[in-house]
Amino acid sequence: MHHRYDVLVVGAGGAGLMAALYAAKGNVSVACITKLYPTRSHTGAAQGGVGAALGNVAEDSWEWHMFDTIKGGDYLTDQDAAEVFSKEIIETVYELEHMGLPFSREENGTIAQRKFGGHTREFGKAAVERSCYAKDRTGHMILQTLYQQNVKEGTTFFNEFHVTDLLIEDGRCTGVVAYELATGEIHTFHAKAVILAAGGYGRVFKITSNALTLTGDLMSIYYRKGLPLEDMEFYQFHPTGLSKLGILVTEGIRGEGGILRNDSHERFMERYAPTIKDLAPRDIVARSMVKEIREGRGVGPDKDAIYIDLTHLPRETVEGKLAEITDLARTYLGLDPLKDMVLVQPTAHYAMGGIPTDLNGLCLSDGAGGVVEGLYAAGEQACVSLHGANRLGTNSLGDLIVFGKRAGIAAAAYARATDYAEMPERAERETVHLLDTLRGGSGKENVAAIRRDLQESMMQNVGIFRNGPDMAKQVEIIKELKERYRGVKVVDPAKRYNGDLIDAVELGFLLDCAEAMAASAVNRTESRGAHEREDYTTRDDVNWLKHTMAYRDMNNPGNVIIGYKPVTLHGFTRSFEPKARVY
Ligand SMILES: Cc1cc2nc3c(=O)[nH]c(=O)nc-3n(C[C@H](O)[C@H](O)[C@H](O)COP(=O)(O)OP(=O)(O)OC[C@H]3O[C@@H](n4cnc5c(N)ncnc54)[C@H](O)[C@@H]3O)c2cc1C
Repeated sequence: MHHRYDVLVVGAGGAGLMAALYAAKGNVSVACITKLYPTRSHTGAAQGGVGAALGNVAEDSWEWHMFDTIKGGDYLTDQDAAEVFSKEIIETVYELEHMGLPFSREENGTIAQRKFGGHTREFGKAAVERSCYAKDRTGHMILQTLYQQNVKEGTTFFNEFHVTDLLIEDGRCTGVVAYELATGEIHTFHAKAVILAAGGYGRVFKITSNALTLTGDLMSIYYRKGLPLEDMEFYQFHPTGLSKLGILVTEGIRGEGGILRNDSHERFMERYAPTIKDLAPRDIVARSMVKEIREGRGVGPDKDAIYIDLTHLPRETVEGKLAEITDLARTYLGLDPLKDMVLVQPTAHYAMGGIPTDLNGLCLSDGAGGVVEGLYAAGEQACVSLHGANRLGTNSLGDLIVFGKRAGIAAAAYARATDYAEMPERAERETVHLLDTLRGGSGKENVAAIRRDLQESMMQNVGIFRNGPDMAKQVEIIKELKERYRGVKVVDPAKRYNGDLIDAVELGFLLDCAEAMAASAVNRTESRGAHEREDYTTRDDVNWLKHTMAYRDMNNPGNVIIGYKPVTLHGFTRSFEPKARVY
């Protein structure tokens, strides 16, 4: 079946819905294609809030927010992106309020704000209340609000449609191809402009806070076209996910007095961060936990977890302020935090890298200013390089709405000013080939087994601690896994609701993301932000103050070509001294 819209948005999380809304306000026809029902997107899981310098609780300014974002990004952040972001997030939060988002309130009726790691006043002097929240359901409220607004503006939704290909001819995007889960039909969508907002790829790791569907689909499709992925080596781990499951355990659990303990019940954070102990920043706590596990002091059946101890806390705290996580521990681990210590592990959480864009979301085709006309991207799957080498908490929700809006406005303007370009003949050709190959494989290999081997090896070799030999080994492992993937056969012949087929397609996407990530990581011989190397322990601004651009070698698939893009600096360059890592 064939469809035609001025602007197409792929993805209906916070970024996709914001982009669709602002495109629709721009007097063009808009469709949003999503593999999930919009309100089931991962944005709905975000609890902490969205950071904006409203100054409702204490004095605040966008310059301080900009500085924190750049420092948090370990100076790899593009500073023009940080400036636009810190300024525009303020009006954007008010816009959401006026759309009806039910923010929690201060006593005087203004939007409530709370502290969050890394957000400070006066360039790092003291913590500041900057996170605007709606209880612990901020992401959920953003999705509901934006979905309603899209319905009002007349956006057309194609739910449970899986985008499998992007149509790019002569440097211009002309549409997408999608597979409809309910019928097994292939649809072509013709458009003047396309906005990609398909979320992250945490499922490349064994333990992750990310939903099952976060498989980096559009990053992979972009990369398959010979286009670059930026800064893929930077991936953030959150210290506390429920053991084996990765489900996020809020930082609040330590804020309320929870204590991390090893196999001999020692409060080991006293050794790594003697002053602030369990309340040390995310990356330090995560690295300390992994050190304990690697040195044989882990707990649980596989000795790969750590205890979080709440047994000394009053019942009111555990069942009141920590109600949700108490419930999760009881349901999923069969442990009662009032009596039992709960098993946690660092969990893969957020992709800093992705599809490179300019400040209006326009996709970049190289590191020297080349673009893909008519193609935009926003959200976790994009890299405008706001987060640099490490994202600050609450800055992702802000990223979605600021840069989602910018992409929507820019795409609508482009669509108004241009005609439809011709679509390639037999646009669905690549998708038909992909699906036929998966249905007709030799059948020697099994999707679940390859995915398990990928996730385990990525966790082991390109996880929280990294070193050259392990990452080089992983590059080879991914080549072997890709070879095995060729032998996959989808056994379920169903035409309708064929989940097996989708699993196989998504595994292909994950393998590409892993390939770009491992190659980018082994190449960067320094430690910066979330990229922590045991063999290069300091930040090296002389050689590495630049973004990585990873390209598939189109003549030799399996090989990755690495290029670079300069970091945009203006203003904050003062702390460029190499940083020694101490715990
Ligand atoms: C548990 C958890 C808690 C978090 N808490 C916070 C927080 O408090 N504050 C904060 O700032 N950040 C937080 N984050 C990070 C933040 O929530 C995410 O980075 C952000 O929500 C991503 O939004 P998105 O719009 O880019 O993608 P998502 O919300 O993940 O949506 C992706 C969309 O793309 C669609 N899609 C994907 N592939 C395809 C395809 N092939 N075809 C069609 N559609 C496709 C999906 O259907 C979905 O609609 C949290 C993340 C997690 C996992």
